[in-house]
Amino acid sequence: MSAVQTMNPLVQVRDVHKSFDQLEVLKGIDLDIMPGEVVVILGPSGSGKSTFLRCINHLEAINKGFIAVDGEQIGYRLRNGRLEKLSANGIARQRRKIGMVFQQFNLYPHMTVLQNIIEAPVGIHGESRQDATRNALQLLERVGLSEKAGSYPRQLSGGQQQRVAIARALAIKPKLMLFDEPTSALDPELVGEVLATMRDLAKQGLTMIVVTHEIGFAREAADRVVFMDDGKIVEMGRPDDVIGNPQHPRTKAFLSRFL
Ligand code: ADP
Ligand code: MG
Repeated sequence: MSAVQTMNPLVQVRDVHKSFDQLEVLKGIDLDIMPGEVVVILGPSGSGKSTFLRCINHLEAINKGFIAVDGEQIGYRLRNGRLEKLSANGIARQRRKIGMVFQQFNLYPHMTVLQNIIEAPVGIHGESRQDATRNALQLLERVGLSEKAGSYPRQLSGGQQQRVAIARALAIKPKLMLFDEPTSALDPELVGEVLATMRDLAKQGLTMIVVTHEIGFAREAADRVVFMDDGKIVEMGRPDDVIGNPQHPRTKAFLSRFL
């Protein structure tokens, strides 16, 4: 028997607006992301990239439009045909579908690598310590840090710490991973190992939204590149098109800095 499968987008973003007081930072963002897709967001500083990721991950509330992840509207649920705001529990459940990695790795300094990774699964999501530990050790292998389970963050290089942060974000088994300039705080010689880890995750089919200035990574790993400027998506498409042959003057100006 053959069946036609229609895939639904994992992420749906419609006409999203976000202001901080008088300052409108997101001015109508529309974006659909399919399961397994890797989307790289490029754009100048202040264009709203971080704010956009933070809205997806419940860290900021939007003023207009909607964001849905895995078929559920962020921050709301449907009940008897009406949208109602989620309780703290409901929000925690939705957030479990999303992992986020920041420029600053924010590991807990007083905890070992292993403790950092099992903290959320055990402490927040009620997983058994045994299961969480088994999973954490597999994740450490995946990011190439098996021998560091008992180390403290200060004993690791920046690149290693960021790979632990990636493992920690993966520990809740998210359907979507958000990366906000994950290599921007690293010494240049440590950038490659983190990008290599991210490239592996992309190959393994993880759905990822990556804000980065690493054009090489965008070219190689992205299925789609989005160029944001002044709170809007001004250009979007395959990396070869957007990076290799940008159409919008803003995209051209931005990319010319990297040539
Ligand atoms: P990007 O990540 O592209 O550099 P951001 O999303 O961080 O851009 O910021 C976009 C704009 O929103 C900037 O002008 C920034 O100063 C402003 N902004 C971001 N967060 C806040 C906040 N919490 N309060 C007020 N303004 C903010
Ligand atoms: Mg930013």
